[in-house]
Amino acid sequence: MLPLSLTRYLHLPFPYPNRVPMTQAPPKPPSPSLEREASFQLLFHEHPLPMWVVDAESLAFLVVNEVAVAKYGYSLAEFLAMKMDDLAEPEELLPTAAVPATAGAGASAAWRHTAKDGSVLHVESTWHEIVFAGRDAVLVLSIDRTAQRHAEEQNREQAKLLNLASDAIIVRDLDQRLIFWNQGATRLYGWTSEEVCGGRTLDFFVREKLQIMEAEVELLRKGVWTGQLTHRSKEGREVIVNSRWTLVRDEYGAPQSVLVIDTDITETKKLESQFLRAQRLESIGTLASGIAHDLNNILSPILMATNILRRTVTGAEEEKVIKIIEGSAERGAGIVKQVLTFARGAEGERVLLQPKHLISELAKIMAQTFPRNIDIQTNLPTDLWTVLGDATQLHQILLNLCVNARDAMSDAGTITISAENVDIDAHFASMNPGAQLGSHVALRVADTGSGMTPETMEKIFDPFFTTKEVGKGTGLGLATVIGIVKSHGGFLTLQSVVGVGTTFSVFIPASRDAEVAKKEDEAAVANGNGELILVVDDEAPIREALVGTLTAHGYRAYTAEDGTDALALYFQRRGEISVVLTDLSMGQMDGIALVRALRKIDPAVRVIVSSGHFQKENVTVLQGLGVEVMLEKPYTADKLRRAIRKVLETKNPAVPAGK
Ligand code: ADP
Ligand code: MG
Repeated sequence: MLPLSLTRYLHLPFPYPNRVPMTQAPPKPPSPSLEREASFQLLFHEHPLPMWVVDAESLAFLVVNEVAVAKYGYSLAEFLAMKMDDLAEPEELLPTAAVPATAGAGASAAWRHTAKDGSVLHVESTWHEIVFAGRDAVLVLSIDRTAQRHAEEQNREQAKLLNLASDAIIVRDLDQRLIFWNQGATRLYGWTSEEVCGGRTLDFFVREKLQIMEAEVELLRKGVWTGQLTHRSKEGREVIVNSRWTLVRDEYGAPQSVLVIDTDITETKKLESQFLRAQRLESIGTLASGIAHDLNNILSPILMATNILRRTVTGAEEEKVIKIIEGSAERGAGIVKQVLTFARGAEGERVLLQPKHLISELAKIMAQTFPRNIDIQTNLPTDLWTVLGDATQLHQILLNLCVNARDAMSDAGTITISAENVDIDAHFASMNPGAQLGSHVALRVADTGSGMTPETMEKIFDPFFTTKEVGKGTGLGLATVIGIVKSHGGFLTLQSVVGVGTTFSVFIPASRDAEVAKKEDEAAVANGNGELILVVDDEAPIREALVGTLTAHGYRAYTAEDGTDALALYFQRRGEISVVLTDLSMGQMDGIALVRALRKIDPAVRVIVSSGHFQKENVTVLQGLGVEVMLEKPYTADKLRRAIRKVLETKNPAVPAGK
């Protein structure tokens, strides 16, 4: 056993994590016999490592070898006046209770020594009990680990720096197992170093396994590989990276591991593809206008020729053929015009025109060309305002909307084209972002077709967005519509419900005489007189806008978020509430259910139902329930006030019994 005074050097934890057992066998305790004395002396003094013999009790140096003198800077004389303790850093001289079981012959421990010049040496010492000159002594041998220590510190520093890097820095072995994963990798891919180190890279985030295998081959051949990879993050997000791989070799040149640096380029890629699309659009525009120009030159003689033929041909059969040729050539010319509008942006001639004529003309064409099972309805007021516009382009808007409506109805259905004078006021504008104040003519195309999901609605105005099969859709229809509408200074609103249908409303500024407009407005409706209106709508902004408008015009308002809410309120305040203004589609108890329930409580209740999309069946049901006014959304304050006055000023109609 080591004397107790020595064990305090042995408690220190070995700071090298991957500590290996000392390979070089410690010198065997020399025999104290005299014959061996000489060889011991030789071994001791010529040994390449610093060595001392110290007194087992006092730790005073008894013998010091030459290397120790050279390494520590103390002269032999100085050493012999010192003790082992004088070399050690003071804080390492802690008393200990736990002496490693190995403490005995060949026990080793790590500690810090201070040389004479004050420099610190990290050493690993081995201790051997010996008998020296007849007394208990210890042979101490120390291996300098300072360089190794510094290298490790440097590694730790580097790892810290690597964590600061925004790139994902990953080291893996040749079996794809991860060895190092910096915080950049965690930020990019979501997994922490603890989660992935030791796991296999191929298993969890690589998507293009084949590409990875090819890359691997190249890496082994050339030592480096760079390329673009698409990975999947922990949350399932697609991450596109520029990946640089470097083969790391061991000191003998054998491949050992792979250093991977991934730079996130997901955003750049997205921008790039947007840019490419814009460029493609531009070139398609140029190309299209070139082709359109050529086609015009081809179609013009055909059209002229039919004119000439018509004068000479008399037979009914031939007349029919000419009509077909003429019709087709005109259609071709129409398409060419559409392409030109899209390619150049709308720059047509503006004239004062009456949209009513456009609509009736279009309805006629549709009735002839659309499938029989599609019913076409028009709804046109007699006093429709005029607009300043390009007739061909406005025609094109309606045609595109109607063709889309037709395509949305696979079996049967109804397309309703209507027009209306609308004075856009602040109330309307607040509910429809993009709306401009002033007099407009609204052109509406409503269908009872498939409707659209909100996701589809977001994209429909993008050029080339189509959900139709190749050959059926170009994805240019609505992009053209929006272009024309904007060039006319107008805007567009859209309501769509999946499985119910879609309504597009195009608002074109009306060219009303300002004087006339003012007079018409003055003939406006009377304000309210404190009547209480119960506003029922599940959208808070709409409720707020309605309350604002109503109170500004002399009404008071209560609000409810849905049918159940409204019913409870009506029950409490039925004596006070003059009119219930409710939305048709709401999550909790819709408009129809609400009206039905209200009638039960109070058969004389006055109701206005509003909706962005009235279906025929709904209208029938609502009429059956005695609803007098159905207000199409979006509506202006003026329209709302007229609706309220109408309800307030007419006598309560007899409610059909049994409903
Ligand atoms: P295209 O008709 O060539 O597909 P559009 O720009 O006219 O291109 O329309 C784009 C997409 O918008 C259509 O593919 C369709 O998905 C959707 N869409 C347009 N109008 C309607 C509608 N009335 N009902 C349902 N979906 C529609
Ligand atoms: Mg279309």
